[in-house]
Amino acid sequence: MLYEKRDNKWVYLFEEGKTEMKPLLGGKGANVAEMTNIGLPVPPGFTITTEACDAYYQYSRQFPEGMWTQSRRALESIEAETGKTFGDRQNPLLLSVRSGAVVSMPGMMDTILNLGLNDETVEGLADLTGNRRFALDAYRRFISMFGHIVMNVSSENFDRVLERTKAGRQDTDLTEEQLEEVITAYKRIVFSELHGKEFPQDPYEQLRMAISAVFDSWMRKRAQDYRRVNNIPDDLGTAVTVQAMVFGNMGWNSGTGVAFTRNPSTGQKEIYGEYLLNAQGEDVVAGIRTPKTINELAREMPLVFAQLQDITQKLEQHYRDMQDIEFTIEQGKLWLLQTRTGKRTGAAAVHIAVKMVEEGMLTKEEALLRVDTGLIDQLLHPMIDPDTESTLMTSGLPASPGAASGQVVFNPDEAERLAADGEQVLLVRHETSPDDFHGMVAAEAILTVRGGMTSHAAVVARGMGKPCIVGAGEINIHLEQGYFMVNGYEVKRGDWITVDGSTGDVLIGQVATIQPDLSGDFQTLMAWADDVRVLGVRANADTGHDASVAREFGAEGIGLTRTEHMFFSDERLAIMREMILADDKAGRQAALEKLLPIQRADFLDIFRAMDGLPVTVRLLDPPLHEFLPDYEQLQVELYELKLKLKDAPNFREMDDTLREIYAKEELMAQVERLREVNPMLGYRGSRLGTTFPEITEMQAQALFEAACEAHTEGITVHPEVMIPLVSMERELAGQRKLVENIAERVIGTYGFEIAYKIGTMIELPRAVLIADKIAEHADFFSFGTNDLTQTTFGISRDDSARFLPTYVKAGMIASDPFQVLDRDGVGMLVKMGLEKGKSTSPDLKVGICGEHGGEPSSVEFCHEIGLDYVSCSPYRIPIARLAAAQAVLRRQDVPTVDISTETQVETDVIPELAGVAPNGTH
Ligand code: PEP
Ligand code: MG
Repeated sequence: MLYEKRDNKWVYLFEEGKTEMKPLLGGKGANVAEMTNIGLPVPPGFTITTEACDAYYQYSRQFPEGMWTQSRRALESIEAETGKTFGDRQNPLLLSVRSGAVVSMPGMMDTILNLGLNDETVEGLADLTGNRRFALDAYRRFISMFGHIVMNVSSENFDRVLERTKAGRQDTDLTEEQLEEVITAYKRIVFSELHGKEFPQDPYEQLRMAISAVFDSWMRKRAQDYRRVNNIPDDLGTAVTVQAMVFGNMGWNSGTGVAFTRNPSTGQKEIYGEYLLNAQGEDVVAGIRTPKTINELAREMPLVFAQLQDITQKLEQHYRDMQDIEFTIEQGKLWLLQTRTGKRTGAAAVHIAVKMVEEGMLTKEEALLRVDTGLIDQLLHPMIDPDTESTLMTSGLPASPGAASGQVVFNPDEAERLAADGEQVLLVRHETSPDDFHGMVAAEAILTVRGGMTSHAAVVARGMGKPCIVGAGEINIHLEQGYFMVNGYEVKRGDWITVDGSTGDVLIGQVATIQPDLSGDFQTLMAWADDVRVLGVRANADTGHDASVAREFGAEGIGLTRTEHMFFSDERLAIMREMILADDKAGRQAALEKLLPIQRADFLDIFRAMDGLPVTVRLLDPPLHEFLPDYEQLQVELYELKLKLKDAPNFREMDDTLREIYAKEELMAQVERLREVNPMLGYRGSRLGTTFPEITEMQAQALFEAACEAHTEGITVHPEVMIPLVSMERELAGQRKLVENIAERVIGTYGFEIAYKIGTMIELPRAVLIADKIAEHADFFSFGTNDLTQTTFGISRDDSARFLPTYVKAGMIASDPFQVLDRDGVGMLVKMGLEKGKSTSPDLKVGICGEHGGEPSSVEFCHEIGLDYVSCSPYRIPIARLAAAQAVLRRQDVPTVDISTETQVETDVIPELAGVAPNGTH
């Protein structure tokens, strides 16, 4: 255990906590504790543990015994530290009550500010600050926040009163009298909505209710949705952090902001953030007023900015990672309210990791572990093709990178509905709130009119890796009529638009996109990964082009070429059908002779792209009927021909139509003959080559002729022939013999030596069980975990989507086994197949080429059991390289940089700046 845990201790003062206590105190609670203990200016407070939250649910939503007493005792210590008293008329202590889970769930749960205000303490606050307007404003904010979050009063009711009173002016323009009116109206709203229940005046009752509300927010729908999408277990619970309030809205020498210690989009080393003067934290996040960039703070409050720079550096040195902080300036004094590891884009993650190694903050090994493989995926996102014409309608802030197109929708429910029907939608909103989350998940991208880089839309989209533009203020949405206007363009609901989340541009229509150029830091990080990893990484690629892309991404060969993919274009399909439908061997042979040069040319392209690297070519695998027309479609066509016959105007046309009908019927009879009830368990894989050896022979001939051709061009070739869907050793032995005969004949005619390998897919449970016997005929095994998953579970890989999501949602299975390798079942078969194979053939090379080869947790498993390589689609190769390196490092003591002396955080308290007046006017 990393920390000392005491039974029935539900409450920890900040001084008692530290980062390692995250599971108990939540991310927020642990980090404010850590900041307190390294001497940064944090308002005092305490955290109620996640275990208390768990207990709360166990006791039917009652506080566990002792929790409330401990909270009150902790509150006394905040009172002592601040010299203020909770509920006191003269010198009231006010509190913030915040949620904080172990994993950050931005905006998903609740925060209550200004707690402790009532009709009396509001006057105390007014006297204390000499600013009654401010005190009244804090009170009205508190009533609406508490009323909405804790008492479930609709926030629209409060908003309506406020809008009416403001009559188009700013919040800050409201007079004391107007604020008093608003407060009275707010209390009336609570009273009438809650059928005669008064707004609570007892601060302790407020606190009790607020703590319960934060616990309750853990199980609210939007939090549950967020956890489901992000694979966060429900039983973690949230902590509750209670902290003395500091005020960013005490006038124009106060303010509040959020900042990243480095740019979260690019990773550049610069403080990056936003702030608002005379505002509370929620104003920045809610995107109601568009905030100023942090650089303006350098001009408006240079001393505070200098302190902020100092603190961000210290925080980075302490945590040795980029931080995302929330701060408040209360009358010129800077306070830190929160720090956490900053979320970042893929590009930023890579840049920061590489830079921090250069800066001596991290070792290469740590840097490799820092970059989330999911973010590498984001790095490979498409961007707008610069060679394409496009029309710019407007621009906003580039909140989350990548380009995407979609049909405009204005409503998150509609986005969800249309996406479920397979539509590509783009969600356009004034600003988003956590209630929009499901629509954001469904949309290709998000575009908002208001808000800054740290608004809800921006933070959530970045987390999801979705393109997002915020603050596109020129857009005027006409919700009722279902369109928006911008710079003279009218865009209706359902119209296509494209957004570029990397530049902030909003473009008309569906614009072509391309993959980004990966260089610099990315290549550096990948090279470090290659130095560490043990697993080989190959590509599944079927064309020369895909093979070149794969090579650029670092593929060390081809692990799977699905030769059937070479036959799907129209003219090739016709020859393929001729081969399949031939009545006899001679007919089949004739068609195969036409296919031979085509296939040879394709193989040659791949060999050229993979000069010097192994190329595994798999013989034809799918059931032959896949190349034939659909039987139901043929039935429709036959019916139409018969109608045409009935209406034929003359004998000639009748004759022609009859001829067509006979041909169609003949084709249908042939298709009927090849139709199978269970094609996936039918006439496919090595069974094809066993019954039609001429197919295997043609493919082998094409492959070895291409290899020899490439060799004469000076290309180094390492051909590997792979036999699919083998369940008996005789299948492999038979196919091996055929291939060897052809190889020797072809290579013999060229008169030089080419070494080659013959191996098999292991993708059926029986093949695993007799892998020792199969290995006697194989130079290599490649686990086809798609089919192996299908046949192990007995779940059709084509139909699983109908019910597997229900299993995943219900927690019956951790994830879809077709995406993440099922370690307990399929994984055990892979391990067994490997061991049995090596028992009779110690030099056997063993890899995997199912979809799992590019999925990080499956790659880790492959490393653990000692496979030689994984093979995956070209765009997943960088992910596999990094995942393979991380798999090694997770099993080692990773060296760290010694930051003992010079980077130690100073514990000096930041000097008081009370009374520093801002430059500039407002
Ligand atoms: C597999 O079954 O895992 C495999 C790679 O082959 P295919 O997906 O082509 O059946
Ligand atoms: Mg397969």
